Amino acid sequence: MRYLKLAETYESLSSTTRRLEKIKILSNFLTGISESDREVIYLLLGQIYPEYDARKIGISNQLAIKAISKATGTEKEQVVKEWKTSGDIGRVAEKLTKNKKQSTLQNHILTTEKVLENLKKLPGLEGKGTVDKKISLITELLTSASPIEALYLVRTLIGDLRIGIQESTIRESMASAFFKGDKESSKEIQEAIDKTNDLARVFDLVKMGKIKELKKVKLEVGKPVKVMLAKKAKTIKEGFEAVGKPCAIEYKYDGFRLVIHKKGDQINLFTRHLENVTKQFPEVIEYIKKYAKGDSFILDSEAVGFDNKTKEYKQFQSVSQRIKRKYDIEKLQKELPVEVNIFDIIYYNGKSLLKEPFEKRTELIKKIVTNHPYKIIHAKQIITGDEKKAEEFYKKALKDRQEGVMMKRLSSEYNPGSRVGFMLKIKPEERDFDLVITGGEYGTGKRSGWISSFILSCKDKDKFLEIGKVGTGFKEKEGGGVSFDELTKELFPLITEEKGKSVKIKPKIVVSVTYQEIQKSPTYSSGFALRFPRFTATRPDRSPFDITSLNEIEEEFEKQRRNWRYG
Ligand code: ATP
Repeated sequence: MRYLKLAETYESLSSTTRRLEKIKILSNFLTGISESDREVIYLLLGQIYPEYDARKIGISNQLAIKAISKATGTEKEQVVKEWKTSGDIGRVAEKLTKNKKQSTLQNHILTTEKVLENLKKLPGLEGKGTVDKKISLITELLTSASPIEALYLVRTLIGDLRIGIQESTIRESMASAFFKGDKESSKEIQEAIDKTNDLARVFDLVKMGKIKELKKVKLEVGKPVKVMLAKKAKTIKEGFEAVGKPCAIEYKYDGFRLVIHKKGDQINLFTRHLENVTKQFPEVIEYIKKYAKGDSFILDSEAVGFDNKTKEYKQFQSVSQRIKRKYDIEKLQKELPVEVNIFDIIYYNGKSLLKEPFEKRTELIKKIVTNHPYKIIHAKQIITGDEKKAEEFYKKALKDRQEGVMMKRLSSEYNPGSRVGFMLKIKPEERDFDLVITGGEYGTGKRSGWISSFILSCKDKDKFLEIGKVGTGFKEKEGGGVSFDELTKELFPLITEEKGKSVKIKPKIVVSVTYQEIQKSPTYSSGFALRFPRFTATRPDRSPFDITSLNEIEEEFEKQRRNWRYG
């Protein structure tokens, strides 16, 4: 297929915000995809492989700039300048390609096969000369591209298509193109997507136009599955109303989601983002081998860090590096050990348990996993319909320094990838502060080129004192809220110093940040740190001298101490 056809489809998709209109455009496009072009489906979401595959394009803005400069014969500084004015490298590539085309008039035809072929080589490149090889693969595509093709090629490279479609838009378009667009077909397509995490595979089945083909899709041990997500409830009472009495109440551990697959001797570990993290956690593999029975299974769990000496649980932040680090694994394992808290099982000895009631699944966990504290344990759980008992359990979870509790309906199934109303999270209400950004750190991978972690400060008379870092609460793609790139763009002119990935920023941008707890901390100059900080909004209405003061933070800290939780 000509890449131009895809680029024009992207363009029509981005020209409307109406979902139905988008579905119409996409359905039309889908019916025209031939068997040999099936992988174009990945490109529609800016990907090159199925979602379960860890290989991502991962090109930084900096690298894209170099390639644009080379392909269009424009000085790099000029490209950067254009980027800083428009804030959209895709548009820069489009403009510069247009300028160049007028003078050179070369006319290659770019196909989606060629685009996929070159892009698929990118993630595998390693070692010496990688950057040059990447640039030449990209430049080859850009030199054959028309302006609109250059725009979408670059946006694909940096992982920011801006066409306002998601997996669900593709699902609805498949349902409308090959079925009647009814609820049932769309539900079956979603289930197939959630089990396989491979849109092209589902597309092959959808094209047959038969629901029964979709129903044949099975969970596969060893291939990552999307996890089930929880909705929120404000109180235990509200929780009971939603999930019924009695229900299961469990500790909500403050760690990271870990899905464990075992098939014979093969054990694989995945995060909720379907990343394979098996190599990073050798101790977990050992616990599974020793303490979990069964030929094949898929367990859902939360891994929590703890202090080897004091045995106190740590916050997620302090163990998060174990997920990303690929070297010094043994050393890190000793410094930051994790305990695996198993709370669900969705496959056992050749059989999917997705439709089995939670009560049965949780019983099975007890049969096959033996408890070994600080290694692997069943998530702490009570089954009750008594509000008083539930409240006590909630208080105990908080005293044990966990985030709160989860309330789960006993009869519920497991819906991969869905946020369901029969599993609820309950955490203490969050409070907020207005703070100013005084520094930050550039992100890596998809977020490279953007500042993705922001240092926050409070005021103390005419000084600013650091109180923590925030990296959550930003929007990743389309939708409401502020994204990393928008905020980075605002901060660019305020950068006063750059050292490696860290930057210092002139205090100007005020943000609202919620948190769950204030802690004493030697790390920051204010002497305090925030637990679970989450960005909620920028406050252009506030000056940096109109923010939370150190005095106010001290007062809040004292109030918190008197709170029942610490009594
Ligand atoms: P999301 O709901 O998208 O996960 P979030 O990142 O803010 O939003 P949390 O508020 O942390 O999520 O709540 C859900 C997460 O809690 C789960 O994804 C899981 O990682 C974790 N968790 C901890 N203990 C449990 C448990 N016993 N049962 C289920 N999930 C648990």
